[in-house]
Amino acid sequence: MPTPNAAAELPPHTVAALHPDGRGSSLSSLSRELYRRQCLDWPMMAAGAEALNAVQVRSVAVGPYDVRLQFNPKRIVSTGAKVDAASIRERRCFLCAAHLPAEQRGVLAYGSFLVLCNPMPIFREHFTIAHVRHIPQSIEENILPFLDLAKDLAGSHAVFYNGPKCGASAPDHMHFQASPAGSIPAERDAADPARRVQRAIRGGLTVSTLKEYGRGVIVLESASRQETELGFLRLCAAMRRAFGTEDEPMLNAIAVWDGGRWRVIVIPRTKHRPAAYFREGEDQVLISPAAVDIGGLIVTPAERDFRRTDAALVEEIFREVSVSDDILNDIIGRL
Ligand SMILES: [Zn+2]
Repeated sequence: MPTPNAAAELPPHTVAALHPDGRGSSLSSLSRELYRRQCLDWPMMAAGAEALNAVQVRSVAVGPYDVRLQFNPKRIVSTGAKVDAASIRERRCFLCAAHLPAEQRGVLAYGSFLVLCNPMPIFREHFTIAHVRHIPQSIEENILPFLDLAKDLAGSHAVFYNGPKCGASAPDHMHFQASPAGSIPAERDAADPARRVQRAIRGGLTVSTLKEYGRGVIVLESASRQETELGFLRLCAAMRRAFGTEDEPMLNAIAVWDGGRWRVIVIPRTKHRPAAYFREGEDQVLISPAAVDIGGLIVTPAERDFRRTDAALVEEIFREVSVSDDILNDIIGRL
């Protein structure tokens, strides 16, 4: 929902561009121009972009699917982030416009979300898309902007969401992120007819799961914004009943606009961090799965984890933090 008052209170220098801008510029082009300029004008962003040159990547075949590992030392800030309620209360929110670094600018979309460059990126053109107000992370309250962002960034970016208890570094400040299209393996796998199993059709909305994928995934597809919205909200309600919770059900979600349809990839979660994350000393594995990781691009800020992570460890982590086939079937049965 537009919040003109909050947008009007943004420090004027913070807004580099508006979307829509009255000239028909796409959100993709405005965001890419922002990225280009921020790499020139903001030393921290330039350093973050430079650090991506040193990132290492390797693939691991985990039976019928592949994952990619990314060794990215700068991501220790996110992987190691304290996200307990007390730590969040005590820190200054880094997504509130009043606290942004002096050089940081954003594209104000729909009067309510600020597209910002992530200065500790996993990808080139990695954006954090923060609400202009300091309101809690909630996908159900913000499903329409999620879908609109996916459509308006189509072709250049996917948009993703981390639940407040399963990957969001700022659970107290509503935000999405955007990654270059095709960077997260689940985007490709969810579009692959050979991997999909259609489970339900509701009007023009299809509900599918992915077979032999090592983690429970539900894919919603529709050409209708309203059908996709309602299908997603119905899925959240089904997950809430299956999990027996009043809170937002734990989930990560990735949205793309592809071939005239929305595709929303939902990964229900049972926990945020695996047991290996909390081991002591050498046994500790610094993998803290959020949407990108559970989507198949696992970020390892420690080199030893990058070297030693194998198919068995990936399987173990995915099994531990995502839902089993039984729970997935229970959720689908409640739709
Ligand atoms: Zn905030």
